[in-house]
Amino acid sequence: MNHDVIVVGGSYSGMAAALQLLRARRSVLVIDAGERRNRFASHSHGFLGQDGMPPGDIAANARRQLQAYPTLTWREAQVETVTGQADAFTVTTADGESCRGRRLLLATGVTDELPEIDGLAPRWGKTVFHCPYCHGYELGQGRIGIIATSAMSIHQAELLTDWGAVTLLVNGALDLAQETRSGLARRGVVIEEACIAHIEGHADVTLMDGRRLSFAGLFVTTKTHPSNALAEMIGCALEETPMGVQIRADAESKTSVAGVFACGDVARFPHSVSLAVGNGAMTGVHIHRSLLWPETLVSVHAEGGVR
Ligand code: FAD
Ligand code: MG
Repeated sequence: MNHDVIVVGGSYSGMAAALQLLRARRSVLVIDAGERRNRFASHSHGFLGQDGMPPGDIAANARRQLQAYPTLTWREAQVETVTGQADAFTVTTADGESCRGRRLLLATGVTDELPEIDGLAPRWGKTVFHCPYCHGYELGQGRIGIIATSAMSIHQAELLTDWGAVTLLVNGALDLAQETRSGLARRGVVIEEACIAHIEGHADVTLMDGRRLSFAGLFVTTKTHPSNALAEMIGCALEETPMGVQIRADAESKTSVAGVFACGDVARFPHSVSLAVGNGAMTGVHIHRSLLWPETLVSVHAEGGVR
């Protein structure tokens, strides 16, 4: 069967796009490997009507609602290759099955590059976070440590003073100019220069000089990159952002390849469930329009950056 649309990535953004297309009675194949970016967190915050819900429950509830539409096919699988062109894309999964579709949507999310600090990865999404709006409130105005990774960490430290008493753990990642130090001091940020040996307990940071600092929570600015090479495989242009690397997509979510669309974290920033869902919903509408009016398929912005 040649589906109208193949959606790779059945999380928030991919499902939001699929929902619009299903409601237009289009045939949609969603292929999902079940590795949402927030799978490390027990609760999701800031998504209207779902504040504080387990992120897996939000996704499962959405999937149940999608499955009420008869033109949906859902496959739990990992897509390994994407080939073809508009009206004839072929997607092959790890179990060797191939499917065809007229349009391809990449809603495949991003991967966080975590700093290599002993004890950090197991606490990711539990007591180590990246987004103050998602996880800052729950820290109850306690002590917050910012693990520096790049100049973005300075901004993160200043911002987080609205959520608690902030210490910037420089950890050898930054060379702070006097002006920057003054700015941080004005916001009440304490600067800690000693490097981090490891993290243990709730969010206890042991420094190389043996001192131990306890925090209600830790924040780290991660770099992100697309979770796989599917976009490059089909020829989509990528672009650098302050967050890392994403698929280049225009205001209608068209990539540089006609018929291939991208939405959610992999194609826009900043990153959140609300923004992924909003972007996904609009992308579904744009894909539907491209099926009705194929002459609109080529992005006028395909060459030369659109943001
Ligand atoms: P994702 O949710 O990452 O989903 C991508 C999907 O594509 C996954 O299911 C994956 O398995 C699938 N996929 C990828 N490649 C393939 C392939 N080759 N084949 C098949 N399937 C594939 N945001 C909030 O608003 N509130 C929060 O509280 C919050 N907490 C967070 C906590 C943590 C620790 C992290 C890291 C992020 C958090 N976020 C939060 C951000 C949120 O997770 C993302 O913005 C959101 O998940 C983006 O949705 P998405 O659909 O674009 O991608
Ligand atoms: Mg998705």
